[in-house]
Amino acid sequence: EGLIVSFGEMLIDFVPTVSGVSLAEAPGFLKAPGGAPANVAIAVARLGGRAAFVGKLGDDEFGRMLAAILRQNGVDDTGVTFDAGARTALAFVTLRADGEREFMFYRNPSADMLLTAAELNLDLIGKAAIFHYGSISLITEPCRSAHLKAMEVAKEAGALLSYDPNLRLPLWTSPEEARKQILSIWDEADIIKVSDVELEFLTGHDSVEDEVAAQLWRPSLKLLLVTLGDKGCKYYTKDFHGAVASFTVEQVDTTGAGDAFVGALLRRIVEDPSALQDEKKLREVLRFANACGAITTTKKGAIPSLPNVAEAMRLFESA
Ligand code: ATP
Repeated sequence: EGLIVSFGEMLIDFVPTVSGVSLAEAPGFLKAPGGAPANVAIAVARLGGRAAFVGKLGDDEFGRMLAAILRQNGVDDTGVTFDAGARTALAFVTLRADGEREFMFYRNPSADMLLTAAELNLDLIGKAAIFHYGSISLITEPCRSAHLKAMEVAKEAGALLSYDPNLRLPLWTSPEEARKQILSIWDEADIIKVSDVELEFLTGHDSVEDEVAAQLWRPSLKLLLVTLGDKGCKYYTKDFHGAVASFTVEQVDTTGAGDAFVGALLRRIVEDPSALQDEKKLREVLRFANACGAITTTKKGAIPSLPNVAEAMRLFESA
C-alpha cells in the first residue's frame, strides 16, 4: 500500500493543568506533543496506513522524545534530522474561559525552521504516494526552500500533493503576508483542506457559502474540503460538490480534530484514489474522516485522542 509522507513541524504544546485560564493565570503546564503535520502522520499510522514524517527537531531531550513518539506510533522517522544548535519548538497554548485559544510560541529560531533542502531525505520523499504539508514551514528560510524542494521532488515522483494551511496568524509578520504566502503554493496541490475560519480569512468573506469556497477552487485541484467543526465538512471537485454531516459526540477538546480528519481522508484515498472521482465513494470516505475528527474531540490533547480503526468504525457504524 502507498506511503503517506507528511512534511513540516513537530513540537511540544504546553497546555495548562486546569482549563479555562489565561496563560498568565495557569498554575502549571503539561507536555502535549503536536504539530499538525506530525499529528497527521500519526493519525494515518494509527488507522493502519504507512506513514513517514519529514522535519527537523532539536538535538535535545524534547527532540529525541518526539522522534520516539513517532516510532512508537509506527511512523517512519528516517526523514527526521536533528539540529545541534537549536531547540525543539515549544508552544504554550490555552483555551481561555471566553473560548478563545491563546498561543505563545518559542521559535527563535527553533530547529524545525532550520531544515535545509540539502538535509532532505529525497529517497523517502520520492517514495510518497501522497505528500502532505502545511504552511508554517513556509514562513522563514531555510525551511521554506526545503519545503518547496520537497514538494517538487514528490510531485516529480508522481505523488498526490495534499495541503492543509493550518493558519497560525501570530507566526506571520502580517495577515497580508500570511494570505499571500499561503496562496503562493495553492496551484501545486491536488487536495486542499481548509477550516471555515481559514476560508473566511483567505477569501475575505464572512461566510462559508459555495460561492465563497469557489474562490479557492483551481482547475489543478482534485478535491477542496472545508471543515465545519461539529457540522462536518463540505467537498468540491470539478464534477460534484456537497456536504457530509458529522457525528454527535461530547466535545472535550478539539485539538487535533482537523489533523485526524486529514489523516483519515489520506489513509482512505491512498487505498482507493478512485474516490476522488466517485461521489458515492468520496462521501463514505468523508463520513469516515468526520468520525475520526469527532472522536478526537472527545479526549484531551491531539495525539492521545487519534482513533484506531476499531474506534473509528464503532462510531462510523453507529449512525
Ligand atoms: P483543529 O481544531 O485541529 O484546528 P480544524 O478547525 O481544522 O481543527 P474542525 O472543523 O474543528 O477542523 O474539525 C475537523 C473535523 O472534525 C470536522 O470536519 C468534523 O468532521 C469533526 N469534528 C470537529 N468537531 C466536532 C464536534 N464537536 N462534533 C462532531 N464532529 C466534529
